[in-house]
Amino acid sequence: MRIANVVIDVAASSIDSLFDYEIPSSLEDVVKPGVRVIVPFGPRKVMGFVVSLSDQSEISKLREVESVLDYTPIFTEELIHLSKWMQETTLCFRISAMQAMLPAVFKATYEKEVWMLAEDEEFPEEWKNVSQGREVFPFQEVEESSVSPHQVTKLVQEELIDIKYNVQRKDQVKTVTYVEPAVEEYVLQEHLEQLSGNARKQREVLAFMTEHYEAVELKKLQNELNITKSPIQKLVSEKLLRFTKKEIYRDPFKNHVIEQSYPLNLTKKQQTVIEPIIQNINNNQHEMFLLHGVTGSGKTEIYLQSIQRVLEKGQEAIVLVPEISLTPQMVHRFKSRFGDEVAVLHSGLSKGEKYDEWRKIHRNEVRVVVGARSAIFAPFENLGIIIIDEEHENTYKQEDYPKYHARDVAKFRGTYHKCPVVLGSATPTLETYARALKGVYHLLSLDERINEQELPSIDVVDMRLELQKGNRTMFSDLLVEKIQERLERKEQIVLLLNRRGYSSFVMCRECGETIHCDNCDISMTYHQKKNQLKCHYCNDVKPMPQRCPKCESDAIRFFGTGTQKVEEALLQQFEQARVIRMDVDTTSRKGSHEKLLNEFGRGEADILLGTQMIAKGLDFENVTLVGVIAADAILHLPDFRASEKTFQLLTQVSGRAGRHELPGEVVVQSYTPDHYSIELASQYDFESFFKKEMQLRKRFSYPPYYFLALINISHDNHVQVVETAQEIAGILAEKLSQESLLMGPTPSPMLRIKNRYRYQCMIKYKRREEVDQALREVLEKFKKEINQNKIQITIDFEPYHFM
Ligand code: ADP
Ligand code: ZN
Ligand code: ZN
Repeated sequence: MRIANVVIDVAASSIDSLFDYEIPSSLEDVVKPGVRVIVPFGPRKVMGFVVSLSDQSEISKLREVESVLDYTPIFTEELIHLSKWMQETTLCFRISAMQAMLPAVFKATYEKEVWMLAEDEEFPEEWKNVSQGREVFPFQEVEESSVSPHQVTKLVQEELIDIKYNVQRKDQVKTVTYVEPAVEEYVLQEHLEQLSGNARKQREVLAFMTEHYEAVELKKLQNELNITKSPIQKLVSEKLLRFTKKEIYRDPFKNHVIEQSYPLNLTKKQQTVIEPIIQNINNNQHEMFLLHGVTGSGKTEIYLQSIQRVLEKGQEAIVLVPEISLTPQMVHRFKSRFGDEVAVLHSGLSKGEKYDEWRKIHRNEVRVVVGARSAIFAPFENLGIIIIDEEHENTYKQEDYPKYHARDVAKFRGTYHKCPVVLGSATPTLETYARALKGVYHLLSLDERINEQELPSIDVVDMRLELQKGNRTMFSDLLVEKIQERLERKEQIVLLLNRRGYSSFVMCRECGETIHCDNCDISMTYHQKKNQLKCHYCNDVKPMPQRCPKCESDAIRFFGTGTQKVEEALLQQFEQARVIRMDVDTTSRKGSHEKLLNEFGRGEADILLGTQMIAKGLDFENVTLVGVIAADAILHLPDFRASEKTFQLLTQVSGRAGRHELPGEVVVQSYTPDHYSIELASQYDFESFFKKEMQLRKRFSYPPYYFLALINISHDNHVQVVETAQEIAGILAEKLSQESLLMGPTPSPMLRIKNRYRYQCMIKYKRREEVDQALREVLEKFKKEINQNKIQITIDFEPYHFM
């Protein structure tokens, strides 16, 4: 007997193991590891992924695989292994790991249908109102009616109704309809001559089809002859013509003309840097490289030429870039070098477009994929290199289940395929840089821009002094002056307002003082209700001060301004300026991001004002000034990475100015200009920043000295969640050794989301095994409540968000 071991498409802990199904002889050659199948599961039918085959099962009576959805596996052996590894390392369901690897169209939807098994009279009135004499109808109508779930259960038990699941697949390919001759040319000709004079439209069609004796696209034919479908339909029904369908790809880049580009002669430094990567490729060797190089130092050219070597060897390449820098500019560089070999995957594509790009990879029609995080799962079978550009970006960590980090997946795949993984950045994360210094990663440095072009000079303006001078506007005198200059010279300006959704920290506008937790060294957050300051790592509270504890000023208050306000202020100050504002409001529609950038690129505006989304990847010749409105907004996020993020952002955004002939300048406004992250960013001094920040990380036991695990507990009852969180902390405290540090439970900074109360614990650890053991204990203990969806426990290793 042949048995399929199947991962079932239901995300629940009780189902998170393999289920065995007998393979009927009719499907014996078709059911293989990596295909999707439909299997019976309890009373319904569900989709599942076959991960392996076997000859024996511990279950004596097996049900049969009902049907197969794929005739070529959609998972490779490697990706099946990877899903197991993700399940173990991120503690997710196997099914979630597998789904994360596929484009969304592969997600099956299930339509529930009600089947009436008895005559109408036997049902209660309420039910008859819904069924209205039909034998089969959508279950949704029951849900929308007054019939209770309890009543439904009863009807099922009494065998009056049955509820069936229809699995619907959405991975449809897009097709275009063609019309082609169905008979010999002379037959068409004869028919044309016999047609009566009335059938003018049919004559035109036949004349056209006789003349062009080949398949034509239906739409084109209709347009050409300016006719409806019906005369064509008529001829098809007479079997003179026929319709055919041709599969097409939805091409998101069809409107871009792309010129071929050629490899540049590498500089000496670039040669030194590329050599060990090429060696890895040639020797089928896996190493993790960190390519540390300032913006404009020629990193991308290194990527391109490494990939070229990989292609020459007949292998494939994955390039990850942050979503936000997947601008046409970046994609262009890869397409212009490798043309049709490139597939692009990013969130701006429709589901269908993503599916088409994925299929090009799956069918070996392309050999390079450039994409955001999930492109790391590209189903290549002969990978030769993986590149992660801007490796420090948070977007490489998925916040939803499975909470994987693309860097870890890259390491898995690089090891499997014996190929190099290159992490590139001007501002690598502390974790990565520390590994590179220890020799865990192979460090490659490019410390100068190509042609020794200067990096733009950065002026830090002390906003406290502006206030003292009586300037109460958002713009310092220096920034105003420099903007004015640019407007007169018809050069362009990029203004960054680095505000994230959440900024309830308080700051003294007189002296820049903010209030930090004494234990955790992060900003305390303001809680309006109790008028208190709170640390959400350790739960410490302090009263909200009336006066600044440092300078006694009463100008201590909330901080934060929106982009819209800045835009208004800009227009007031510079009446003649044309401003493009880019934030979540103006870019929510598909394609609007690109549209606004194109307008700016064509010089239709003087100032591009925006949030983080404008800090990366943009390359406009005419931009000579970058202004940062409030560098402090990120600096005081309640996050131990706040300084690091500030340093990264300032470095990134500075890289937007003076990228070409015209020299660039940067003005950074801050209330804490002497903070090391701002000061050192303004000197482009990564090394010193690294040293200083590492000291603090060590002192407060943060990464890279400790690993972190964040445990979030939520419940719709506030008292319950507190009790549960305390109980969990108790178990953890008991199970963890001295080597691990436990913090919390504390209320999450966003205490309530969707009416669920949220508490969290944080573990700082050195050894993963003991954390896994302790957590297993916790999950086991609350298994029942979790399955009933009373409490939710989410576990996040290497967390980036602490909300
Ligand atoms: P990064 O990726 O580090 O920001 P890029 O690869 O984009 O750097 O290089 C910056 C600029 O220098 C680009 O315009 C690129 O075309 C150019 N460039 C890179 N390498 C060379 C080279 N070897 N010779 C000439 N120009 C180069
Ligand atoms: Zn003060
Ligand atoms: Zn604290």
